[in-house]
Order: sequence, then structure tokens, then C-alpha cells
Amino acid sequence: MSTKKPVRVAVTGAAGRIGTSIIFPIAAGDVFGKDTPVILQLLELPDALGKLRGVEMELRDCAYNLLRDVVVSDDPNVAFKDADALFLVGSKPRGPGMERADLLKDNGKIFIGQGKAIDAVAADNARVIVVGNPCNTNAYIASQMARRVPKANFTAMTRLDQNRAAAQLAGKAGVEVGAIGNLAVWGNHSPTMYADYTHAYINGRKVSEVITDHEWLNTAFLKTVAQRGKAIIDAQGVSSAPSAAWAAIDHMRDWHHGTNGRWVSMAVPSDGSYGIPEGLICSFPCTVDANGQYHIVQGVELDAASKAKVQASVNELLEEREMISGLLAG
Ligand code: NDP
Repeated sequence: MSTKKPVRVAVTGAAGRIGTSIIFPIAAGDVFGKDTPVILQLLELPDALGKLRGVEMELRDCAYNLLRDVVVSDDPNVAFKDADALFLVGSKPRGPGMERADLLKDNGKIFIGQGKAIDAVAADNARVIVVGNPCNTNAYIASQMARRVPKANFTAMTRLDQNRAAAQLAGKAGVEVGAIGNLAVWGNHSPTMYADYTHAYINGRKVSEVITDHEWLNTAFLKTVAQRGKAIIDAQGVSSAPSAAWAAIDHMRDWHHGTNGRWVSMAVPSDGSYGIPEGLICSFPCTVDANGQYHIVQGVELDAASKAKVQASVNELLEEREMISGLLAG
């Protein structure tokens, strides 16, 4: 039996499709390591607590050696207590005819409350990944509530966009996904995000040297990645869940263990790099050092076309920030 201190992991929307797919790999040791025990602290809306009890039974029935306990609650002050890592997945889906501004406001209220609860009861160095959409702005809202927990610890998920892009490139080049490096997603987790392959390599060679179909790279590739979520809904009738869950796991695992120089896409509070306004939660290429500290990769030279795409996505983030400014002021 491992004598290591358990990591406390909170997951919101834990009875939902993505939340359910996240918690089993965490309990199996896929995020914090095969020798690190975990305590899962699961949050749901009161109406979904019954369903969550069923998920809890299944979790316990897996008899995971590393799973020390499961806490189920509808109160963030209970579910976030002493949490070292938080996956904020639960959020209100956009209803028919609903404007983006309405969605932002409805979810904004959830993330104000959750941001306050994190600051009140989570571990001092709690690390947060927001998956619930619009994830960048939801993370921004929660980060603005933090006084004790560092704002830099509030991040959002763009790893799914990176994974989708890597899978497309690997498929086209006929190589394994691990051969792809330095692929970067910039901006917002929305169709405006920019998957920049121009600095990426395949087995150490520039992508554009290996994939000579430049027409595909500049049109079909970018379009496929940007519209993948819709394509999945069209095909299966529901949105992506296992792939979104796995990307969240990739994000937190790499943040915990480090990337050994490998680039990973993370939406993190901007420090002003690349002229992106400070505090805005924007996706950048990042590396994570051996101490689990992430760093925005510096000195990436973006050509004019890339700069325009990044700017368009940053403009969308600025618009979203403007839409929720009243909520934060109130
Ligand atoms: P999912 O588990 O499928 O999705 C959860 C959130 O993840 C949504 O906001 C969804 O955005 C977002 N998301 C981010 N990336 C992706 C992606 N690539 N593909 C699909 N979704 C993505 O939703 P469910 O309805 O199954 O579950 C949500 C759960 O959250 C429910 O059980 C509900 O009760 C709970 N909830 C909990 C709250 C809380 O804990 N306080 C608050 C609100 C809800 P999008 O909708 O844009 O696809």
C-alpha cells in the first residue's frame, strides 16, 4: 500500500458525460501517478445527486487500489475542501435561441460562486482546469474571485484542440501521434482558436516538409480541427465526452508531472506575452518544468497570417470579458 499523502481531487458536473469519463482514470492513477492515492470529491446539482450516487457505487466497485475515499456533495464548500486539483466541468449548456451573452451570464454566476469557494476552502496551491464552456471566460471569472489561491493556477482546456490537430497531422503523414511536436493552440476554446502547425515538427522535420499538400494544411486541416465538435454532434447526436475528458486528464497530468521541454497547449492567464492583455485566459504553447510550474513559451515568431488569427481569437475573449464585466462589478 502506498504511504504517499493522497491528492484531493474535486470534479464538478461529476454525473455528466465528461465528468463521469474523467473520474475513473483519475482513480486508476492516470493523472497523479500509479503510486499516488487519491480522494475524489464530487460536486453535482441537487437534482443530479441521485445519479451521482450511482456513479459513486461504480467507482467503488472498480476496487481501485489508489482510491482512498469518495465524497459526494451539492455544496462547493464541501466538495472543494482542501482540494489540490479541481476539474470544473459542470456548466449550463446553451439552450435553443440562447445568446452567448446569456450563457456567459448564467455560467458566470456559477463560476463566481465556485471561484469564491475555491479561494475559501481549497488547498493554498490548488490547481484548476475549467472544461465547462465558455471555459476560458469561466476560468477568468473564477480567477477574479481568488485572493489566496494564485490567479495563475486558474487554467482552461484547449488540449482537446491540440490533440485533435495532432491526430489529423499524424493521420495525414502516416506517423504515430508521438512523432508530432511543437503544435500550439492559441486563443479561445471556440471555433476562433488557432491551431498553429507552422512551428510544429514531425519526427524532427517541419510539418510543411513532410506534408507537402499545403492546400490541405491551410484549409481542410484547420477547418476540420475548428469544426470537430460539430462534426461529432452531427455523427453521434451528442457532443464529445471521452475525448474531452481525456484531454482534461492530459492537461492536469502534464501540469503535475512536467513536460520535459515538450510544448502543450494550455489556456492560462496572460502575463502580457505576445501583446495579449494581462489576465486574459488565453491558450498559449506552454512547457511545464520538473517542479510542476508552467511557462508560456517565449520567442515564437508568428507570421502576419498567424498573428491575425491569434488576434481574432483574442478579440473574442475581450468581447466575452466585456460581456461579463457587469457581473464582476456587481
Ligand atoms: P457534458 O459533461 O457533456 O459537458 C460539460 C461541459 O463541458 C459543458 O459546458 C460542455 O460545453 C463542456 N465542454 C468543453 N469542451 C467540450 C467538448 N469538447 N465536448 C463537449 N463538451 C465540452 O455535459 P452533461 O450535460 O452531460 O453534464 C453536465 C453536468 O454538469 C450535469 O450533470 C449537470 O447537473 C452538472 N452541472 C453541475 C454544476 C455544479 O456542479 N455546480 C453546475 C451546472 C451543471 P458545451 O455545452 O458547449 O458542449
